Amino acid sequence: DVPVIAIDGPSASGKGTVAALVAKELGFHYLDSGAIYRVTAYAALDRGVALDDEVGLAAMARTLNLHFDGIEVYLDGRPVGDAIRTEEAGRAASRIAALPALRAALLDLQRGFRQLPGLVTDGRDMGSVVFPDASVKVFLTATPEERANRRYKQLIDKGFDANLAALVQDLRERDARDANRASAPLRQEADAHLLETTALTIAQAVAKVLEWYRR
Ligand code: C5P
Repeated sequence: DVPVIAIDGPSASGKGTVAALVAKELGFHYLDSGAIYRVTAYAALDRGVALDDEVGLAAMARTLNLHFDGIEVYLDGRPVGDAIRTEEAGRAASRIAALPALRAALLDLQRGFRQLPGLVTDGRDMGSVVFPDASVKVFLTATPEERANRRYKQLIDKGFDANLAALVQDLRERDARDANRASAPLRQEADAHLLETTALTIAQAVAKVLEWYRR
């Protein structure tokens, strides 16, 4: 069986950074499932599919021509770059992610990343829905204030404008939407390790996940 390390958690918790480093350390593949929701929303906006058209979005998702190279995402052979990393793209992704048919349409695509020697993936439902038989499940989180700080730095680093108070507000709204939706709500699975990272460095968080995997 191909091992999977599933790291779920709320927005801007740092789970993507930790997951990518764990993958690098183990020589595993890495899947940023949030990028799939983001690029799907981006494609919908680009093609004029309404963000509440569940049937239309699911149909589009099933035929999306996506591929990944490291952290770069390609749609129809063209790199989408930072266009999917804006707050607007995150909000649009979060809206379509509430639609069950759209989530179902993206399952095969995500499971296709499970290839030897192994996969590290991050998202909201990697351990609960997409890879319920994952070797290690982690629920990675931090306080909303710390997550807003992390997102703020990330956006500024990319040269985007950012407002800390607006980010805290946006994170709270997105958390509520992700936790309260009927389909694959965000929550810690019974068999997931809790990794509270507010007071941890990235290296400490990575070491913890590796320890759970090697145990
Ligand atoms: O993790 P990221 O912020 O890039 O994800 C964007 C949005 O996609 C999230 O707010 C969430 O609503 C949705 N998502 C999801 N399931 C996943 C990954 C992301 O619902 N596995």
